[in-house]
Amino acid sequence: MELIADPVALTLEHLFAKQYYATMPRRTNVACLPSGIHRKLTGCLPSASTTKSGTLRHMLEAPLSDLQVANLSSFLRSEAMSLQPSRGPLPVGQVLDRLGVSLSVASELAGKAHGILRLNNGSWEIVLPAPNSADPERLSPRHRFTVAHELGHMMLYSQGVQRARDRRAYWQIEDLCNAFAGQLLMSDVELDEAFPRDADISARELLVRTKLLARRLLVSFEAAGRRVTTHVARSAFVRIKVSEAKPPRFVILWATENERWLESGRGKHIGADHTLFGLVSDKQLTMRASIRELDLPPTAIIASQWTNPHLDVAARITT
Ligand SMILES: [Zn+2]
Repeated sequence: MELIADPVALTLEHLFAKQYYATMPRRTNVACLPSGIHRKLTGCLPSASTTKSGTLRHMLEAPLSDLQVANLSSFLRSEAMSLQPSRGPLPVGQVLDRLGVSLSVASELAGKAHGILRLNNGSWEIVLPAPNSADPERLSPRHRFTVAHELGHMMLYSQGVQRARDRRAYWQIEDLCNAFAGQLLMSDVELDEAFPRDADISARELLVRTKLLARRLLVSFEAAGRRVTTHVARSAFVRIKVSEAKPPRFVILWATENERWLESGRGKHIGADHTLFGLVSDKQLTMRASIRELDLPPTAIIASQWTNPHLDVAARITT
């Protein structure tokens, strides 16, 4: 069963919410998450969530308005800027110390959760699954993103924004937390240096610089790609999994674009009618570790690179 359709850190909340929402009609705002699940998400019973600042209101019943989203977005953005160094990787340990958040490891998190945020005796705690280290300076890029994402939830709690039980509100909050994580881990200064506003960036350079940025800032290619598409106009990235089946299968692991191009999300199978089918079915192109640039008329110029077992694609959208 495909539970995760969203290109975000896979946390317990996603897993439960997706399962939960999958069984509920669109009007979910009169329903309630089972208290056991709520407790797993927050560490508290649904009606008794408390923080240092007092009792939290109940979970979000309805979507946020556009104005609320805009206000929260700018709040998170300024929080990210105040916490990050202008250059270099985010010192996660220092940030957690500054915010009074502890990091721990649990041998078992439900499902395939990448991490959870919970209140532990009034203090926030982020729990990662074993065999991670609880040393914040030794986290994988994936878990650095998870920690940053969960800090976004914590900040939203500070603004009275709870976990959502309305489906749309849920994804509004996830989007806000993902954007916050990207901004926290990758500063505007780093982006401006990698992609100067007046520079004409080729597809090849888009791919090369994004991978360098990811390596330099200790984030995943996916996190870097998503952040870069907010900065570089007409840019897109796709990571494709190539299976060893015969004939091989090509599945989009994640994709991001800042202008309509592929409109193919996670899990999409690349079939004969897909724009990228010609690329992926050409073995000469697919299995090349060196970067190849290719005109993909009429919509893009792309650069591709084989990083076994993935084919990574960066695109400059031309229309
Ligand atoms: Zn989340």
